[in-house]
Amino acid sequence: MNSLLRYKSIKRPIRLIIFDLDGTLTVPVMDFKKLKQDLGFPTGQDVLEVIKGLNVEEKTRANKIIHEFELEARNNLIIQENTEKLLLFLESNNIPKAIHSRNSLENIKYFIDKVNFNFHHFVGREIEPPKPMANGSLEILRVLNQSYQDNPITPNQVIFVGDSVDDIKTSKNLGALACLLKNEYNKHHSHLADIEIDNLIELQDIISHFNDLN
Ligand SMILES: [Mg+2]
Repeated sequence: MNSLLRYKSIKRPIRLIIFDLDGTLTVPVMDFKKLKQDLGFPTGQDVLEVIKGLNVEEKTRANKIIHEFELEARNNLIIQENTEKLLLFLESNNIPKAIHSRNSLENIKYFIDKVNFNFHHFVGREIEPPKPMANGSLEILRVLNQSYQDNPITPNQVIFVGDSVDDIKTSKNLGALACLLKNEYNKHHSHLADIEIDNLIELQDIISHFNDLN
């Protein structure tokens, strides 16, 4: 196993996995650089942030471009290797799973239908502010904890799995363990994560370590 687990000595039960969607549960196909070019936005800035400052007409145009961009990505959707195996592992160990994405709810639902697993909750960019703020993940916790009122899930019992530095920040803002699914574009950020993996299946051993499942 190549995955690096920092804080190995800290034992705590993991009771919820929150996944980013694009590039994490799906293979990265979104070319954000090209999107920003099409939008005419500066490369260094956050798309959702720039849109906020636009007038109604510009906003409509930008949202149309983003919608087409996401639709194209959705049509080319490839599920990440070992996603199903990991989701099955979580189900057989009664560990809830959720999605916190910056994508639209419609596209998240499309993925869920395609992968055909039950997610306990999922939120997209309708929850503001978006990642890297943790509001979406807090909403997931709030909804799930309605079923765990006697023993609520706390942020430090959550692993947030993502493929970007924003996902790591979201995880830190939540107070969860940040897991980075590494690829050639993000690996230089891996030192910021608590857990780094090359393949989703590595999470099985990591969760087993935390939850004494072996
Ligand atoms: Mg992503």
